[in-house]
Amino acid sequence: MAEINQKLSDKIIQVLESLDLGAKKPIALHEPRFTGNEWSYLNDCLGSGYVSSVGPFVSRFENDLKKITGAKYVIATNSGTAALHINLLLAGVKRNHEVLTPALSFIATTNAIRYCQAIPHFVDICHKNLAVDPNKLSEYLKSMASYKNGQCINRVTKRVIKALCVTHIFGHPADLASLANICREYEIELLEDAAEALGSYYQDNHVGHYGCAGALSFNGNKIITTGGGGAILTNHRHLAELARHLTTQAKVPHAWNYEHDKLGFNYRMPNLNAALGCAQLENLTNFLLAKRSLAETYQHAFFNMEEMYVMKEPMYAKSNYWLNAIILTKANIGEFESLVNKLNEKQWSVRPLWMLHHRLPMYSCCPRMDLSASESFENRVINLPSSAFLNKEFQIEASENLCCDRISC
Ligand SMILES: *Cc1c(COP(=O)(O)O)cnc(C)c1O
Repeated sequence: MAEINQKLSDKIIQVLESLDLGAKKPIALHEPRFTGNEWSYLNDCLGSGYVSSVGPFVSRFENDLKKITGAKYVIATNSGTAALHINLLLAGVKRNHEVLTPALSFIATTNAIRYCQAIPHFVDICHKNLAVDPNKLSEYLKSMASYKNGQCINRVTKRVIKALCVTHIFGHPADLASLANICREYEIELLEDAAEALGSYYQDNHVGHYGCAGALSFNGNKIITTGGGGAILTNHRHLAELARHLTTQAKVPHAWNYEHDKLGFNYRMPNLNAALGCAQLENLTNFLLAKRSLAETYQHAFFNMEEMYVMKEPMYAKSNYWLNAIILTKANIGEFESLVNKLNEKQWSVRPLWMLHHRLPMYSCCPRMDLSASESFENRVINLPSSAFLNKEFQIEASENLCCDRISC
């Protein structure tokens, strides 16, 4: 066994080294790049004195995001998790409601449901995109849910199933039309965790505003970063107004009075972060090109290897290729741990998939359907270094810009 492990990890390392990516070791999983107007906008922001929430860069960032995503309304928040939390409230999720959600996602998706005192109800994924499987979901709801007085009821727990929150894993869009049909049939609100999917398209539309609302993240490892931050996308005016209100402590607008009419949150994005975001968005097209090119490089390099395959965008979608992943065939699961160890030892910062949420102590008692597809991906998925400028051709341009910019400010 050890000998086989040795062979497969050597083989993968050999392939990776042969790519001549031109990056210095250790090669990070995902690094931000500040090659545009970041310094200059941050300077402007500091100069203006408006560093905290509400300021010209926040509105500009929101407007830029509107143009890019096609969402009618955008509300910038101080994290993607905060955006997820507010979106659940916009969908009317309350204490003891159930929210359908994949067990395979970053923990924030499930945590946000608990912030509302609602109950995560785990659903399975499909092989092609690692996102919620519409066929399996539809069969499952037929078997255990009823539609009564405009509500979807879990016949087993007698609780209301209020919403479905789907994650676009690694930026690969879920099958939104099929999922939206199911939601319509049962009057379940559709939410999207699009934290990883800025620049990803389902058919011809940017993800994140197909249903009730969606959440983006601009954490340091995402395709663009504001340091920390997120955004709520929605096409519904009343929801946008409610989101703005809830994220600013539910303060009744007045020049000096402190009156609050709901339980609110301090969730707005500071101007300083938005300044960084505006500069980053100016480079989004370049980031997307660089990422697609890197994905093609990996796909080409690992083409036809019998032990694994590289994850690709679904047919109906255009992905931002935020994070590349190799997926071992089931026969090679036994080699997973030593592979992750070996690659990290050789300074390729690869990462395993998140632990499935029903395995975590705080969520082990949550209701769930058969999760065999999710479980079949445990110990098989390895994320590869995916920074936008790993490819040599994009790297040169980036460092040139960086020099110019540093000199100019
Ligand atoms: C990054 C991420 C989040 C959380 O975003 P933060 O901005 O870090 O709060 C939520 N869901 C998924 C799938 C993510 O990848």
